[in-house]
Amino acid sequence: MKKNCNDVTQQIEHVMAMSERMCREVDTLLDMWCGIMRDWRKTNDPDPETNLKPCPFCAGKADLGMTNDGLHYVFCDWCGLQAPGQYRADQAIDCWNQRHGEI
Ligand SMILES: [Zn+2]
Repeated sequence: MKKNCNDVTQQIEHVMAMSERMCREVDTLLDMWCGIMRDWRKTNDPDPETNLKPCPFCAGKADLGMTNDGLHYVFCDWCGLQAPGQYRADQAIDCWNQRHGEI
């Protein structure tokens, strides 16, 4: 009986140690991720493939979409922010890429 008790205690200690290790690893990963996001937010350059700037709110990746009425619009893949629909795709891209105070 006593041995069983010790086994369980050992198992719990083992699991606790594993959890602590995992927490540390998650912390490290989060730090890395935050660092990447910070660096990314510094660059407001358009994506070379889509020519779309990152989302002004969350710095998420933007994509081009089309409404049922055939209007082109740009939206953020991450937070869902959406720019007004435009007749042409290049107008939709210009509309999205326009930032207050920029020339
Ligand atoms: Zn966004």
